[in-house]
Amino acid sequence: MALIVQKYGGTSVGSPERIQNVARRVAKYHQQGHRVVVVVSAMSGETNRLVALTQALSESPDPRETDVVLATGEQVTIGLLSIALQELGVPARSYTGWQVPIRTDSAFTKARILSIEPERMLADLAEGKVVVVAGFQGVDPAGNITTLGRGGSDTTAVALAAALQADECQIYTDVDGVYTTDPRIVPEARRLERITFEEMLEMASLGSKVLQIRSVEFAGKYKVKLRVLSSFEEEGEGTLITVEEETNMEQPIISGIAFQRDEAKVTLLGVPDKPGVAYQILGPVADANIDVDMIVQNVGHDGATDFSFTVAKNDLKRVLEILERVKNDLGARQVVGDKSVCKVSLVGVGMRSHPGVAAKMFRTLAEEGINIQMISTSEIKISVVIDEKYLELAVRALHKAFGLDRPEADV
Ligand code: ADP
Ligand code: ASP
Ligand code: MG
Repeated sequence: MALIVQKYGGTSVGSPERIQNVARRVAKYHQQGHRVVVVVSAMSGETNRLVALTQALSESPDPRETDVVLATGEQVTIGLLSIALQELGVPARSYTGWQVPIRTDSAFTKARILSIEPERMLADLAEGKVVVVAGFQGVDPAGNITTLGRGGSDTTAVALAAALQADECQIYTDVDGVYTTDPRIVPEARRLERITFEEMLEMASLGSKVLQIRSVEFAGKYKVKLRVLSSFEEEGEGTLITVEEETNMEQPIISGIAFQRDEAKVTLLGVPDKPGVAYQILGPVADANIDVDMIVQNVGHDGATDFSFTVAKNDLKRVLEILERVKNDLGARQVVGDKSVCKVSLVGVGMRSHPGVAAKMFRTLAEEGINIQMISTSEIKISVVIDEKYLELAVRALHKAFGLDRPEADV
């Protein structure tokens, strides 16, 4: 009999009825003789509500106290699910992150899991109990409550699966697998039977929130068998995240399209074209702990050039403040911020062996009259920054142009 870790996201535990549904599914596995550890998120909307409460009291709430507040959402659902399981006659026991314990570093609101002690859970499982663990939270070396960043319950589940050497980690959500792109934007999007870890990592880091990026990193590193499935459907294989070597069939060139609305573009106009400028601009940004995504430096004219980069939308204000200072030191002409941009990315391991993907992407966007503001490529992805108002048009046009709406065999 197998040891399975199942994770249920916010929508899947969004009401007492849905929690009962989850309990029934867990009970089915338990009755089949499997050992089951369940990870749950907060009820849908709850974490947003808690974030808003902290922000109602402070413009920059203390991170330690923020985590004390945010971690409460998951504490509610572990208790409720355990009660629902007990009602079905299934012995169940809930644990918060610090009770397990799931040890993390002290980076409040974005902590990383350092280690997990599986003994307590293994003892419960040996007694025939279902173990219900709060996602998204842990405890730091000083005993403080920490949280793992939005979407962090996925990472809790995969980390538990690694620590328990589980046979499989099943991520149950409100879609029945990983799709060629977000099905909310493109109704023709298709479920992928499998996707490689590498591609899933790119999809997650480029904006597909179906799995938190760290959960994919963890699964790849510790060889956890990871599957995304629907919590609303009885049957279905979902999507298996695989190692590339395991897939011996012909890979499609493009596996998926990811997009990110959370981008803002900053441009410094009239920057002197001389060595050290990029460092002078980006050094202070890095010192402020702000992540920079794409960077473009234009060809210089008459000893001056323009320098652009993108950051997360909610970092824009701080970046503009920093760059006003840099502008004066550098003697640049002007700083411009633009919040109305987004990033659209094509992802696929097949790109390695197929030239011409970028050209086809640019042609497709040109035919729709969409201007490309920035481009960045790596071995298995191409990203462009475009005006946010064209996001849906761009994703739909690319989805069609690359044949993602057709069954895999035809591509
Ligand atoms: P949960 O609350 O279960 O963790 P999330 O909202 O975090 O669920 O993730 C599931 C959502 O991810 C889906 O409802 C879907 O809109 C979105 N999504 C984005 N990109 C994709 C994709 N490529 N495949 C499937 N879902 C995607
Ligand atoms: N409840 C947390 C969030 O909304 C964690 C999760 O759902 O994975 O980000
Ligand atoms: Mg999620």
